[in-house]
Amino acid sequence: MSRQSRHDDATVQSIATSVPEDVTPADRCPFCDRPFPTERLCALHLGERHERELDTTQRERFESASDTETDELFVYHLKIVAAFICTFFGFTYVYVFIWI
Ligand SMILES: [Zn+2]
Repeated sequence: MSRQSRHDDATVQSIATSVPEDVTPADRCPFCDRPFPTERLCALHLGERHERELDTTQRERFESASDTETDELFVYHLKIVAAFICTFFGFTYVYVFIWI
């Protein structure tokens, strides 16, 4: 399933990007020449924007980068849930002392 439907390709391609002169991009998209600060971001871009043109190596890099991103997002969600729980019980604890 492609995630391209979330964004119109014309809208995404119309976003201007620039790289400062003293910075070298880690990787560039071989299809649209867009620069990326990390190889992982380039692999994610290739899988989401150029899914049909990928060779086996690029597809494996995309799947690996996608798995890593999914794991990091899961950990981020766990941290957010823990923050909500701590905030809820913190306010409840404080409220009990004020009310009593
Ligand atoms: Zn591209």
